[in-house]
Amino acid sequence: MTEPLHPGATIGILGGGQLGRMLSVAASRLGFHCHIYEPGAAPPAGHVAARVTTAPYDDLAALRAFAQSVDVITYEFENVPTASLDALEAIRPIRPNRRALAVSQERIAEKDFLTGLGLATAPYARVTDGETLQEAIARIGTPAILKTTRLGYDGKGQARIMAPEDAAAAWAAMNGAESVLEGFIDFSHEVSVIAARGLDGSVACYDPGENVHRNGILHSTTLPARLSPSQRSDAVLIAARILNALDYVGVLGVELFVTPRGLIVNEIAPRVHNSGHWTQAGCAVDQFEQHIRAITGWPLGDGTRYADVVMENLIGADVDKIPALARDRNTQIHLYGKAEVKPGRKMGHINRVIRGLT
Ligand code: AMP
Repeated sequence: MTEPLHPGATIGILGGGQLGRMLSVAASRLGFHCHIYEPGAAPPAGHVAARVTTAPYDDLAALRAFAQSVDVITYEFENVPTASLDALEAIRPIRPNRRALAVSQERIAEKDFLTGLGLATAPYARVTDGETLQEAIARIGTPAILKTTRLGYDGKGQARIMAPEDAAAAWAAMNGAESVLEGFIDFSHEVSVIAARGLDGSVACYDPGENVHRNGILHSTTLPARLSPSQRSDAVLIAARILNALDYVGVLGVELFVTPRGLIVNEIAPRVHNSGHWTQAGCAVDQFEQHIRAITGWPLGDGTRYADVVMENLIGADVDKIPALARDRNTQIHLYGKAEVKPGRKMGHINRVIRGLT
């Protein structure tokens, strides 16, 4: 498909969490239908999508039936097995493409790709056992962070190595999974760029946001980020470089460490990103609509920011603050419709508009 999809077409989304939910809302505003594919029961996206398939990610028959029922396939969850992607791609286009998925699913492939583009990352080395960990520590030094190469998110599958004596405990924490040792970056703060590339190759980047994590989970994103004008343009150029190198279609998140020696890429996410939720209150076209526009071949919206915004995640019992937050007339509230409150679970977020254009 190179022609734009018309309203009435169906978008298939792998994953039915809050990102799938907000993508479905944006798609429905443009007149599209969404079909969610999600293994878990009662997914948040199910409340707002036209159709839901409940099946595991390795159920090839269910995946094929899903692909037949949609016009294009996207995802909010990037750890879909390769064989499943093969089955889907034989039937409908997957956007963003397989290369973007392959690069972001595996931390070493990701770092090899980024350094191949001439971008700075933390020093890194592959670790497969206690011996290769010792070699990696000898090369990279401490402090360092050991991370599983696959399936890590929100700080899971990570162990800090402050001194060489911590090595055995850190390796034990990986449960035998192939890992990467990363040198510890002494950063002043963390920022991310949310950027999009259309089917025609056009690129639109949002202003970088400044991220604060608590317990490995994103707590807040503040716009504007503390960046000099040259750091801001560096951040945007890094994102554009990655998009073009991957021949990417859709929205991408790039997490960066800010250091006195420049910006260092932490990781990339080939999808809409939690640190891009502020665009719902700061821009004419938010990241969710932008992603839908890109994958359906529509022109991209403008990424210009019209307000200073603070996004805060509502994690676990933070949802108890909703009645008080609802009294603040400049606060936009997003709840994900998750029935059960659990510690560490993302229940919703707020966008506080601090100041519009004066
Ligand atoms: P990640 O899952 O790789 O995004 O890591 C989660 C968080 O851990 C990051 O947002 C950073 O705050 C911290 N972190 C990860 N890698 C490094 C590193 N190489 N140096 C310093 N801090 C890191």
